[in-house]
Amino acid sequence: MFRTRRALSSLPGPSSGDWRPLNFDGGAFHLKGTAELARALLVLRLCAWPPLVTHGLALQAWAQRLLGSRLSGALLRASVYGQFVAGETGEEVRGCVRQLQALGLRPLLAVPTEEEPDSAAKTGEAWYEGNLSAMLRCVDLSRGLLETPDLAGKNLMQLKVTALTSTRLCKELTSWITRPGASLELSPERLAEAMDSGQNLQVSCLNTEQNQHLQASLSRLNRVAQYARAQQVRLLVDAEYTFINPALSLLVAALAVRWNSPREGGPWVWNTYQAYLKDTPERLRRDAEAARRAGLAFGVKLVRGAYLDKERKVFQLQGTEDPTQPDYEATSRSYSRCLELMLRLVSHHGPMCHLMVASHNEESVRLATKRYEAGEWETGTHEKVPFLLLWQAGYVVYKSIPYGCLKEVIPYLIRRAQENRSVLQGARREQALLSQELWRRLLGGRRRAPH
Ligand SMILES: Cc1cc2nc3c(=O)[nH]c(=O)nc-3n(C[C@H](O)[C@H](O)[C@H](O)COP(=O)(O)OP(=O)(O)OC[C@H]3O[C@@H](n4cnc5c(N)ncnc54)[C@H](O)[C@@H]3O)c2cc1C
Repeated sequence: MFRTRRALSSLPGPSSGDWRPLNFDGGAFHLKGTAELARALLVLRLCAWPPLVTHGLALQAWAQRLLGSRLSGALLRASVYGQFVAGETGEEVRGCVRQLQALGLRPLLAVPTEEEPDSAAKTGEAWYEGNLSAMLRCVDLSRGLLETPDLAGKNLMQLKVTALTSTRLCKELTSWITRPGASLELSPERLAEAMDSGQNLQVSCLNTEQNQHLQASLSRLNRVAQYARAQQVRLLVDAEYTFINPALSLLVAALAVRWNSPREGGPWVWNTYQAYLKDTPERLRRDAEAARRAGLAFGVKLVRGAYLDKERKVFQLQGTEDPTQPDYEATSRSYSRCLELMLRLVSHHGPMCHLMVASHNEESVRLATKRYEAGEWETGTHEKVPFLLLWQAGYVVYKSIPYGCLKEVIPYLIRRAQENRSVLQGARREQALLSQELWRRLLGGRRRAPH
C-alpha cells in the first residue's frame, strides 16, 4: 500500500533448500524518510476511520467549496494522493517507478476508472472509447518503465473490463451464460473469431443495440490486447461482482483464445480469481484444465476478493444463497487451496502457467514462499511467480499503483477504500510497525540493521 520502499533490494534472492521464514516486522521502514513514515501513519489512520471513508466523496466536495480547489488539492497531494498515487504526468510516474526499482519493486500500473456514469448509456460508445485511449496510453507507459532486455515481457498492467464494456451488457450476458444449457452462441471461440474478423456478431439472446455494443466492446478489448502484446505488456484483468463475473470471464477466455497461445508468447491476458467465492477453487481447476486441453498458456492473479459487503447485501436482499465463504478463515482456506493448485501447475507446466499472489496477507505469502522453497521448482524459475508485496526476500515483487490527475484518482481511491474497508480497519499491525519506527527515531534509537 505504500507508494515506495516496500522491500529491500540488497538482500539475496531465495536459495533452494535453505528456506527461512520471512520476516514481516517492518525492517524495510528504515529506508523511508521520517516525513514519509508520518504521512503513511496519518493516512492509514484516516483510512481506518469509517465516517471519513463512507462520506469521503461528499467531504472532498465540501473541502473544495470551503478551501478552494488549490488549497484542498494541495492538502490531498500532501496526504492521500501522495501516499498512494504514482503521479499525474509520465515523468512523475517514471520518477516514482525509479524509486520503486531502486528497491527491487516493479510497477503494476492501474488506470483509475470509476463505475460507468449514468450518462454513458446516453452518450453511446464515447465514454468507453475514451477509456480505451487511456488503456492504450497505460500500455505505452508500462512498456517504457522497464525497458532493459532482461525485463522484456515482464511488464504488467491492470485492466478493468467494465471500463471498455457496459456493466448492463455484462449483467445480461451473465444471466444467459449461467442458465442451464447455456447458449453455445456465447462460446469463447465464437467471440474470439468475431474479435479477429471484426464482423458483426449476432447473438440471439441480445437485442440489436446490445449486439452492437458487444461487437464494439470486443473490438476495444482486442485492440488493447493486440497493442499490449506488441508492446510486451501483460494484462491482468480485474475480477468484480458475481452478477457480472461470468461475463468478464467469458470475455477474458475469448481474449485468451486469441492471445494466450505459446506461439504468441502468452499468456498476455490473465484472469483474476477471488478466493472468497465458494466455487473458486473448483472453477480455477476447471479453467486450468480447459487451458491445458486447448494448448493455451494460463495466467492467474489470485486475490481474496474486494466486494464482500456488497455481495452479501445483494444476496440477502434477493433471499438467494450467498456465494461467499461464511467467514474469514474459510476464505483463507480457499485461498491456500487455490495457491497450492497454482503452485503445482507452475511447477509442472513451467512457462505455460503464471501466478501472481496478489495479497497483503503474511500467511499466504509465507505459504507461497515456503512451497516455493520446498524443492519443487526448477532452477531459475523464480521469475515465474511474481509475488506481490513480498518484503525483504529478493522475490519478484510488483506494486499496484494508480496514476492520473487528482480529479480522476481521488474518487477512485475513495471507492477502493470503501470496498476494502475491513482491510484498512484491520491494518493495525502496519500502523503499529510504523508508529514503533517513528517513536524509535524520535527517541534517537539506533537504526536497525537490515534483515
Ligand atoms: C495487486 C492487487 C490486485 C487486486 N485485484 C483485485 C481484483 O481484481 N478483484 C478483487 O475483488 N480484489 C482485488 N484485490 C483486492 C483483494 O481481493 C483483497 O480485497 C485485498 O488484497 C485484501 O486481501 P488480502 O489477502 O490482501 O488481506 P487479508 O486482510 O488477509 O484479507 C482480507 C480479505 O479477506 C476476506 N474476508 C474478510 N472477512 C471475511 C469474512 N467475514 N468472510 C469471508 N471472507 C472475508 C475478504 O476477501 C477481505 O478482502 C487486489 C489486491 C491487490 C493487492
